Amino acid sequence: MGSAMTEILDALLVGVVVLDDTDRPVLVNAAAREMGLVRQRQGAAEEAHTIVRSLATQVRRNGVTRVVELDLPRLTHGDPLGVNVRAVALDGGRVAIEAADVTEAHRVARVRRDFVANVSHELKTPVGALQLLAEALLDATDKDPAAAIRFAERIKHESARLGRLVSELLELSRLQGAEPLPEPEPVEVDKIVAEVLDRTKTPGSAKHIEVASRGARGLTVYGNENQLVTAVVNLVENAIAYSPENTTVSLSTRHLTDADTGYIEIAVEDQGIGIEPRDIDRIFERFFRADRARSRATGGTGLGLAIVKHIATNHGGRVDVVSTVGVGSTFTLRLPARPADAALALPPSVEIGGTP
Ligand code: ADP
Repeated sequence: MGSAMTEILDALLVGVVVLDDTDRPVLVNAAAREMGLVRQRQGAAEEAHTIVRSLATQVRRNGVTRVVELDLPRLTHGDPLGVNVRAVALDGGRVAIEAADVTEAHRVARVRRDFVANVSHELKTPVGALQLLAEALLDATDKDPAAAIRFAERIKHESARLGRLVSELLELSRLQGAEPLPEPEPVEVDKIVAEVLDRTKTPGSAKHIEVASRGARGLTVYGNENQLVTAVVNLVENAIAYSPENTTVSLSTRHLTDADTGYIEIAVEDQGIGIEPRDIDRIFERFFRADRARSRATGGTGLGLAIVKHIATNHGGRVDVVSTVGVGSTFTLRLPARPADAALALPPSVEIGGTP
């Protein structure tokens, strides 16, 4: 076989192996070796993986092409290698095998399964609470009107939380790429700030927390106004929820310029309970709460920050946090100060490795 052919085969992402009628590998490309479809023990000739050989035997026997999907344990590290293997009988007892790496697809499927399990669990809890409360309410209606009112109020609280959970789940699944980011448009940061102050006035005044805005005016970011407002509202609502009464939350904006790309920072600083260092890397995960009881009491769903993170990334930006337990936290949303280039048009799941 010519070296040009070898070069072509080695450039493929799929593994290619051809076995002769005695299962000896007569053609193997680099990807197949990488996947471990063919191995070489010290001093010995190259040998096909047991699974590859038994596939070849079956295909040779009945001449029918077979496609199987399997997880190959890796010798060295981590998750098993998921492969989709297709074996075709050629003449003279030879068998051609191609294998595609589906590890990533398997990982995504696993994450999705976990997510569905988490969602079901999260929905079951408030629904269970509602059932109990409704029973208690029925019980108390005649005997204890004051208790009945308390139960009714808790039903109201739980059902509001359930409603929020459902709408945040919908929001998150929309953001996760089912629908592409709407055309980025210039958005005035002042408008975002005004809208956020308006929407957080009620929870703020309930705790005597003033949300003060300061910093540069007249800034512009690029993206979707609704999403950006949602992100900042989530940050301010958290700042209020995780702060004691009579404290201040500050919402500040500034324009940072560096060599080529300027960006806009929207920071939310509170004087709240802060976040333990061990939790800090996890708070952006869906359903993670540092303190479940507190989050429940505040009506939290554990989805707010996951939504903020998605919005930041969708916009070509990021969100960071600095926090000291007992002192307070600062969440900073950084957004590009100019329209993002074509890269933004790619759905977030598309990643291409290697150098262009
Ligand atoms: P939740 O609905 O529970 O607030 P989030 O995703 O918004 O969910 O936040 C995840 C967790 O991060 C919260 O449960 C809380 O433990 C922590 N957290 C978020 N914001 C703050 C903050 N400003 N101060 C302290 N802890 C915070």
